This record gives sequence, structure tokens and C-alpha cells, in this order.
Amino acid sequence: MNILKNYIGGEWIESNSKETLDVLNPASQDILAKVPFGPDTVKDVMSATASASKAYNEWRNVPVIKRVQVLYQLKSLIETNVESLAEIITKESGKTFAESKGEIQRAIENIEVACGTPMLMAGDFIEDIASGIDEMMIRQPVGVCACITPFNFPSMIVFWFLPYAIATGNGFIIKPSEKVPLTMMKIFEFIDQLDIPKGLVNLVHGGKDSVDAILEHPEIKAISFVGSTPVARYIYSKGTSNGKRVQAQGGAKNPVVVLPDADIEMSTRIIADSVYGCAGQRCLAASTIITVDDQSRKIKEALYETVKGRTTGYGLDQGVDMGPVITADSKTRIEGLIQKGIDEGANVLLDGRKTSISGYEKGNFLAPTILENVALDKELIRTEIFGPVMSLISMNTVEDALSFVNSGNYGNMACLFTGSGASARKFRNEANAGNIGINIGVAAPMAQFPFSGWKDSFFGDLHGQGKHAIEFFTQTKVVIERWPKKWSRKF
Ligand code: NAD
Repeated sequence: MNILKNYIGGEWIESNSKETLDVLNPASQDILAKVPFGPDTVKDVMSATASASKAYNEWRNVPVIKRVQVLYQLKSLIETNVESLAEIITKESGKTFAESKGEIQRAIENIEVACGTPMLMAGDFIEDIASGIDEMMIRQPVGVCACITPFNFPSMIVFWFLPYAIATGNGFIIKPSEKVPLTMMKIFEFIDQLDIPKGLVNLVHGGKDSVDAILEHPEIKAISFVGSTPVARYIYSKGTSNGKRVQAQGGAKNPVVVLPDADIEMSTRIIADSVYGCAGQRCLAASTIITVDDQSRKIKEALYETVKGRTTGYGLDQGVDMGPVITADSKTRIEGLIQKGIDEGANVLLDGRKTSISGYEKGNFLAPTILENVALDKELIRTEIFGPVMSLISMNTVEDALSFVNSGNYGNMACLFTGSGASARKFRNEANAGNIGINIGVAAPMAQFPFSGWKDSFFGDLHGQGKHAIEFFTQTKVVIERWPKKWSRKF
């Protein structure tokens, strides 16, 4: 069985750890590879950091216009290999082939935006800020940076950070999720072909041990994290107490409000895609759908009709709308939450438990589930389900819906479906979430914009993507200069 290597110092190197975890195909439970794990992965982080640190000292002095040339190279390598990369993503994460291709496209867009770094990292200059004195602000790289990523977007999330980090002149370490390490193995085949100093970009495997080594290493100056809220909070507090810059994106529980003047056909189709896309395993998946006033029954019926026609199956098979959830444990946890909702008084419109897919009987499959009248004062309404479950509730007024939206602990996304510009404007202004969708079901910021989670969905200040990423991966330096005339030579 293939034991995955790290990529350190420009070479594929065996891990110091003999302990491994199985990487499973969630649709079949086939073992795809074994990934290094455990305390000895700390030594891997040590060598990756030493390599990145050495390469960074060379790379930071390469002109930025030359640095971005490797991004064009990387974009072209990914574009040429989209199909094979998407197949790996589907095999290890379970999402459909189309969803895998979609996330690769989002990764590419981040490379494209980072190609603008020669302009984006420009500083400021004021001549004669005082008499005979000039002042400038320049942006310099921070040093060695690392990212720690979750299972649900094995390619895209790394690209919220990597292209910006190297374009601005930093060294980089990637620690992917131990559940889906194979996508990065493929991407490092491309990184291996780039014209960069050996050791500039490194791949280390593992779980908590390698993450803790990253959090503690004094040479690592900045950490980008994406994952669940408890881990995000831990990463932020430990990383910052060790003097590092940290941006830590956490979990979510996204509400969607449908007003009586919404276009029912369009809204219900979009909402179903949002709830069940990637089997509900997206931090921007709609989770709680709040209908307001007299359209509630019609919306409920339309949602039911749209959702019951969706096909669950293996993501590489034709005609499949939704794949399995990531692990057998996740499946059990989600089934338990559905039961909890029912025990707390919810009515089941559609029950996706007890789903078996012919040919993939061992897979972690759950079909779409719709719960109605979920109790507002119980835990389920606040818990991130991260599975294909929609909770439907109805309220009397827009104000009630908005105060419900703002009562949650998370603030990743809130959406409104309406035909009224005034309602849209009020919602945009008053909803307490970092990403707002108006007649949009997955308000995913494009690469030009920051991925703006709020509340328990984000710890830090600068987010991933776009100008925020340029700021995160650079430190500002202000220079004040005086050159008295008496020193000027005659021309
Ligand atoms: P996770 O928190 O379990 O794991 C994320 C990463 O942290 C992995 O690389 C893992 O190895 C590491 N890790 C896990 N436990 C750790 C610990 N105790 N100490 C140190 N490191 C640890 O998350 P996941 O299950 O892989 O991903 C799903 C979660 O990610 C969901 O909550 C989802 O909402 C969230 N997510 C958020 C965003 C966002 O942009 N806000 C995007 C995608 C996913």
C-alpha cells in the first residue's frame, strides 16, 4: 500500500513517522493510500520549516514580476490536468465529478488574481511630507507561512493562500487534511516543475501533532487555517500567543430567508442546490430555511418536489447529484442529529437515512433530508450539521426572521430571497454575517473579494483571497528620508 511521502526541500521524502492512517474512498471504503500521522510528524515540520526558511531568503529578493511567472506556470499545469485532478478529489472526498471540477476552477481564479501582485503589493510615497523629507511605505514578505486545511475542498482552499503567499515573496508549508491528502500530492507534482528555489513550497502530512509543531515553530510567522470552529479558536489563540499572524476560518450554520415576494421556482431550485451541494459539506451550505408569511406552504411543497428528485450515488457515476459524506462517523453523527430534531418535535418531510446505493453498499451515503418545524429553543437549530439536511421554519414577519438570523453564534453567510429592493437593502445592512446573498444560495466570494466570515466563523482580521491576502502575507515598512542639498553632486 502506498504510504504518502512529504515534499520537503524540493524532494519527495519519507515521513519520520511510521504511524499511518488509511485514506478511504467514502463511497466504497476502499483504502486509497496511507498517510503519515502521529508525534514523529513533528520532525517533518522541522525540516520543512528549515527548507522554507532557506529558500525564502533567496526568493524574497526575486523581483515580483518574476515571482508571478511561476503562477502562470502553475495555472497552466492545473488547467491541463483538470480531469485527473477532479477524479482524485471525487475519489477521496466523495463529491461529484462536476463539483470537483468546480472547486478547481475557483482555485485557478485565485491564481489569476494573485498574478496581479506586481500592482497589488505596491506601497505609497509622499514627496516633501515635511520640508526636504520624503516618506514611503513598502510591503515586504513576512517570512515562512503555513496553511492548515479541511477535508471538504481538497484543492480550492489551499489556493485562498498559496498563490498570494509566494507572489509576495514568502516561503510556504501546506498541511492538508489527513482525510484527503491525495489532491495535494497531485498538485505537488506540478509544484515540483516550477521555477522556484528548492524548499520554497513544502507539503507535510499529519494531524494535531504536525499542526502543533507549526503553531510552536518560531520561524513560522503566519498561519492560515480553515476548519471547524473549536479547532479554529484553538489555532488562533495558540498561534497569536506565540506571536504569529493568524487567520482562522471556522464552521457555520447558514440561514436563508424566503420572503412572500420571492420567485418561488428560482428560489427553491437555488436553495436545494445550496443545501445539498457537496452533500451539505460546505461552510456556505444553507442549513435553516425561514419562510415568512403566506407563501410558506407553497415554498415547502416546491422545495419537497425539487429535493425528492435529486439522485444520490458515487460521484464518478453519470447522473449523480450528490455523493456520500466523508466518513462513517460523520454519517452516524448526522443520523443522530436528524433523530435529535425529531425527538425535539420536528416533522420529517423527507428522511434520507437508510439509504443504500447498489454497488456501493459500504459507502457513507445519506439521501436528502427535510425537517419541518424544528424547535427554535433546542440545540439542533444552533448546531452545524455539515450534511444533507434542511431545517424548515416559518415566521410571521421579516423583522422576526432577521432577529433569528442575527441570534446565531456563527456569521459565515446569510441569504435573502425577495423581489423587493428595499427588503434586500435592509437585509444587506442589518444581517450579522460576513457573506450576504440576495437571491443567491451560496454567497461564496470570488477570488477578488475577501472570504468574510464573522462571529464564531472567523478569528482574526484579514481574511483569505484578494487584497486581504496580499495584506496578510506582507508587513508594512515605513521609510522616512532626508537628502540635504549640500550632498547633491553637480550634474
Ligand atoms: P477540522 O477542524 O476537523 O480539521 C481541519 C484541519 O485541522 C485538518 O487539517 C486537521 O488535521 C486539523 N485538526 C483537526 N483537529 C485538530 C486539533 N485538535 N488540533 C490541531 N489541528 C487539528 O475540520 P474538517 O472536519 O476537516 O472540516 C469541516 C469544517 O471546516 C466544518 O466545520 C466547516 O464549516 C469548516 N469549513 C469552514 C470554511 C470557511 O471558510 N469558514 C471552509 C471550509 C470548511
